[in-house]
Amino acid sequence: MKYTVTKDKCSNCGKIRSKKFWTFKDKTRLCDDCHWRYGELWQKDIDTKETHPTYKEKIGQELKGLGGWLIIPVSIMFVLIISAIFSFIISLVASISKTGWSLFFVFIYLGLLALYITTLVFIFQKSLLGKKLMIASFYANLINTAIADMLLYSDPEEYIATGITFFITWILIKYLNNSERVKNTFTK
Ligand SMILES: [Zn+2]
Repeated sequence: MKYTVTKDKCSNCGKIRSKKFWTFKDKTRLCDDCHWRYGELWQKDIDTKETHPTYKEKIGQELKGLGGWLIIPVSIMFVLIISAIFSFIISLVASISKTGWSLFFVFIYLGLLALYITTLVFIFQKSLLGKKLMIASFYANLINTAIADMLLYSDPEEYIATGITFFITWILIKYLNNSERVKNTFTK
């Protein structure tokens, strides 16, 4: 062994030999010498840190939960669910009168609905999977919008819905990947 693990090591001077070590609440240790000299100050510093959390810790506590800007992507999930329910019903009605494409869409919307609802469940559990599924849902919605535009219009210049959805999806995913609140909220 080239190194030794010393349990008793002074957090101030690094000394490992002392007839007595003083352990503090924050698991720091002081040798007898340092304790005699700085013990009181050391304790005061620990108390101050406890009652006054650092700026970063404070921000972390404030930027947490499904509020702030995060309310926007979460609300959009509800909009996606409602619109998928309507699209599902419309395609189901259409598939009763004729077969082919409409039956295909019945399954598409059923799948999207399952994805969106699962996503929402994980969002409210504040699971990291909630964030990942949210990104997957926005991509799925973008692809779905593009397919709908392609079937409706022959001229790519008319793919307006796809263009708008692409822009919104881009902003939402950028936010989900960079937000401090998202990082602090989806932790499980
Ligand atoms: Zn010491």
